[in-house]
Amino acid sequence: MGAAKPSAAGRPGNAARLADRVRGIEPSGIRRIFELMASMEDPINLSIGQPHYDPPPELVEAACAAIRAGKNRYTVTQGLPELNARILDDVARRYGRRPETCLLTAGVSGGLVLSFQCLLDPGDEILLPDPGFVMYRHLATLCGASVRYYDLYPEAPGERFRVDLAALEAMCSERTKIVFVNSPSNPTGCVLTRAEIEGICRIANRCGAYVVSDEIYDFFCFAGDYSSPVAYADRCIQLGGYSKTYGVPGWRMGYATGPVDVLDAMKTLQQFSFVCAPAPFQYALLEAEPKIDLSHRFTEYRHKRDLLTANLHPAYGLRAPEGAFYAFPQLPRQADGSTVGGDAFVAAAVKHKLLIVPGKAFSRRDTHFRVSFAAEDDELQRGIDVLNDLAREFA
Ligand code: PMP
Repeated sequence: MGAAKPSAAGRPGNAARLADRVRGIEPSGIRRIFELMASMEDPINLSIGQPHYDPPPELVEAACAAIRAGKNRYTVTQGLPELNARILDDVARRYGRRPETCLLTAGVSGGLVLSFQCLLDPGDEILLPDPGFVMYRHLATLCGASVRYYDLYPEAPGERFRVDLAALEAMCSERTKIVFVNSPSNPTGCVLTRAEIEGICRIANRCGAYVVSDEIYDFFCFAGDYSSPVAYADRCIQLGGYSKTYGVPGWRMGYATGPVDVLDAMKTLQQFSFVCAPAPFQYALLEAEPKIDLSHRFTEYRHKRDLLTANLHPAYGLRAPEGAFYAFPQLPRQADGSTVGGDAFVAAAVKHKLLIVPGKAFSRRDTHFRVSFAAEDDELQRGIDVLNDLAREFA
């Protein structure tokens, strides 16, 4: 007879026995809005985190052709060498510095997982923007790293979101492994100035930290002078993506650039996790990208940004966001000077079929909310009308 099976005595019946590392991970506040939307008829959806347009036809054709031509197998882990080379050329042309190497990833999300796993040890610190995209915090915590936040909120209502470099410098220590940058920003739409980017990199360089830069919204930059940490950081991991620019978030395509030593580790980890970025879409981008002209989309989105900024009630103190497709207006103040809570405000919006995201989904503060202007103009205008009614109701 074989050895007796280990006794299950003492274990809870069928209850999930999850690892400790996932205990602090709660579902995203944005997902909850998605679920709400599924139950609504004809909602005004300004909660969405993807462009409202379909991908360019050249790209769709190239993807179909790649699939038909049998480009459905694995590629090498780092992705097609010609696509890697093109990305590096592009980065060099834009920022005057050529990163050592490039890796195609499964979206920027894939690049975030790989870079955090390869850089963060338990006890290391990562400095994240507040407000900031929800994923960063959880991925850092999974690595056992400590998260500290640097503040992006305006100094006074109606002023721009900004980085307080002196405060950031005071937070940086030898424990700081990553200073994280996201410009243009989700959820604020803020684009950091060249001086801010340069200042952040100077601080990171001084304390020996990596700058990990999420540049997924770089196409949607309405400020004249966009700059990237690639140009200034001694150790920069740049994460770029295709989801937003080309309207292909379901394709799961992104890239990372940076120094060979870190990118090699990320490549090895990719070998044992994602394996490679989706092959047919790599071929599609390689083939079609040079033929795509998206300037009309850029003009369209700048117009949507202007439509929202010009027409939103002054109670929201909105200043034109400089990039991405989000605005982060403040919650209206009530007659007694108090601010209405984010949940109450979003619930009131939902009663009018408007979906927006409370600021606290991205922040430790509950003072703002996120509006996405990635919608048809008439839907955007209907949303603005609801918000303006709410401003009068709450003020
Ligand atoms: N970073 C930011 C700031 C985002 O808003 C998103 C998507 N909402 C991502 C990364 C993830 O993008 P991807 O589809 O490339 O994984």
